[in-house]
Amino acid sequence: MGRYIVFACPRCGVPRYAAEGQKTARCFYCGVLIRLDPAETRILLRAENARAAREAVEEYKMRRRIRGKTRSERPL
Ligand SMILES: [Zn+2]
Repeated sequence: MGRYIVFACPRCGVPRYAAEGQKTARCFYCGVLIRLDPAETRILLRAENARAAREAVEEYKMRRRIRGKTRSERPL
């Protein structure tokens, strides 16, 4: 059991997580292949286990939703 990294998609900014040491990950939202290279991808945090990583992702998503209100991500 390894650690996990939480990162934001460089294209759409949607947060997600992957096992540390994984080289690439596909964004669930925009479908872009993300290179898990610290030089290219912003690592938000590291987590000890999958559950902590998932909780962190949910927290980042909630923050985005609050901020997103002014950006009209979802027209009312
Ligand atoms: Zn994306």
